Amino acid sequence: MLLKDFFNRFPDDESCIDYFKDVRLSLGMICPKCSRTNFKWYKGSRIFQCATCGYRFPLTKGTVMEKSHLPMYDWFFTANMMTSIKQVLSAKEIQHQLEKKYYSPVWLMMMKYRDIMGKRDAMYKLSDEVEIDISFFPTSSIVNVDGEDVIKTQKTPVLVIAESKPVDGILAEYFSKLTMPEYINRASALLQKAEKMNIKKAVQCIKMYSMPNQQYETIRPYIEGSVSSDTKAVTDGGHNLIKLKEILKEHKPYPETEDEIHEVVKSKLPWVHIITGECRSGIEAIHKDIDERFLQPYLNEYCWKFNRRFFRDCKKDKYDLFDHLIRTAAQYTSDIKWRDYEKAINSLNVY
Ligand SMILES: [Zn+2]
Repeated sequence: MLLKDFFNRFPDDESCIDYFKDVRLSLGMICPKCSRTNFKWYKGSRIFQCATCGYRFPLTKGTVMEKSHLPMYDWFFTANMMTSIKQVLSAKEIQHQLEKKYYSPVWLMMMKYRDIMGKRDAMYKLSDEVEIDISFFPTSSIVNVDGEDVIKTQKTPVLVIAESKPVDGILAEYFSKLTMPEYINRASALLQKAEKMNIKKAVQCIKMYSMPNQQYETIRPYIEGSVSSDTKAVTDGGHNLIKLKEILKEHKPYPETEDEIHEVVKSKLPWVHIITGECRSGIEAIHKDIDERFLQPYLNEYCWKFNRRFFRDCKKDKYDLFDHLIRTAAQYTSDIKWRDYEKAINSLNVY
């Protein structure tokens, strides 16, 4: 949502609370005590009461805002900033925009949003055809050497999976349906984009996971949990991915020789490379040394936004990316706690 539209829709805390209450009711709530679904709303105390058993609970219970002391306006403003601006935003910037004295609640709020983005995207699997690759992101961790905390830098492996298909195949599908005008438009848009980017595949949804190591046994459960078994996978034939045919319908490895590498990347594995480059440079723009434990939430944010890239600044409220995030906020809680990361944040150069 554009900033001017946000300020019109949500001029104050009250308007945010009203909207969030409506979102919760529209998604459907179940009383934790008696499992009924009718509630009274007490505006002054911001409390729902079960119409059957009388059980009361606050507006934010069972949501990402649970137990937060920040006003709902801050959560809404931040949700809009994170969804309407393409780049990754630093908590320092949001702290400045909201004129907050303390950094930690703002950092925590943004990390919780990133956490629930990952939880939401874990609800579905990729299918049909996927590119799979392992890339490396520069990270840091604090290690204790002779009683002293030392920052160690390393490269963390990241499993990148992109649902993509050859443009030719999609065009053939569209051309078989050309009696419907929307397919003519889709075919034309796809051709234009493929030509502009000079790549031969079109991408749908993506997933990225920060890995403790790059061994097949470590990677395998992540692939099994995020890709349907009837999927065809394309990889660069790396030794850690060679056994993929055990868990997927088909695995087509393309060995990367020095001579072939450019053509293979462009024609067979374009999206895992584009995604990795874009995501890594987005994180590096605000972090000098990212703690490796923060990497997954940032990957979550990148994937969540990428998978909903057509909804950014959508003119219909209910389809707007901001509204997607607020609905997710109403349905998921986060376990991220400031105290678990306090030492790292204070020692590392995190923005
Ligand atoms: Zn009840």
